[in-house]
Amino acid sequence: MAETSSDCGRKKAKVDGSLDGSSAAARFKSKFQPSWSKKWPCIIAVPRSPTEFRCTVCDKVCSCAHQGESDVTRHIQGEKHQKNVRVRTNAALLSSFGFISTSDPLKDKVTTAEIKVAILLVENNIPLAFADKLSPTFKELFPDSNIAKNYHSARMKTTCILNGAIARHVKQTLVKQLKSGVFSMSTDGSNDKDLDKMNPITVKLFDINTSRAVTRFLDMGVTQGVDAAKASTIFEAIDEVMTDNSIPRKTA
Ligand SMILES: [Zn+2]
Repeated sequence: MAETSSDCGRKKAKVDGSLDGSSAAARFKSKFQPSWSKKWPCIIAVPRSPTEFRCTVCDKVCSCAHQGESDVTRHIQGEKHQKNVRVRTNAALLSSFGFISTSDPLKDKVTTAEIKVAILLVENNIPLAFADKLSPTFKELFPDSNIAKNYHSARMKTTCILNGAIARHVKQTLVKQLKSGVFSMSTDGSNDKDLDKMNPITVKLFDINTSRAVTRFLDMGVTQGVDAAKASTIFEAIDEVMTDNSIPRKTA
């Protein structure tokens, strides 16, 4: 009999490898189901241990012997898993554009600082022009820092980091989610600029990693011409966004 430590919020449980015994070993134990991996890609089977699952986000083996899928749900919704998801998301954001170059640690640190400041400005609705003041301020405040000395990201570079790298990454991640789950889509005329009309397209979906319904911006949905505000023109714009991103209609 092997004892498995379950650190998924439950007490230690005895897990028996054989089911041909007469007492505790004969009790029914829930086994891992392959469908769980489709529902939660981070949940995978543990070889030769059917009553356990591994979470690749937490790099942890947990027991599913007691309540099966409910054990997995409890882990996914747990505080530790949620925290690890946030850590992973931030790390992926910084490393997925080829920004991270281990050949020059200082350059990596400077780039990381520039990216984090760009995200900070956007998250707090601070005008990007504010970035013009940051480079000289950092140098003045931290004269002994090589990172501050090499930090150069005014409004132009900050804009490029946001539009050229971060926005693309965020959109790719969102489109991937839309391809694998159900979602709703909405739009509303936002602004007119000459004959161009902006119709921000947002989607509402269930984020499996955070177990929450979230609303995300998908595209600006620009329409043009004298018919820019017509429903048929706006529909064509939405249709084009879905086609361009290969988003299936059946899940919308
Ligand atoms: Zn986990």
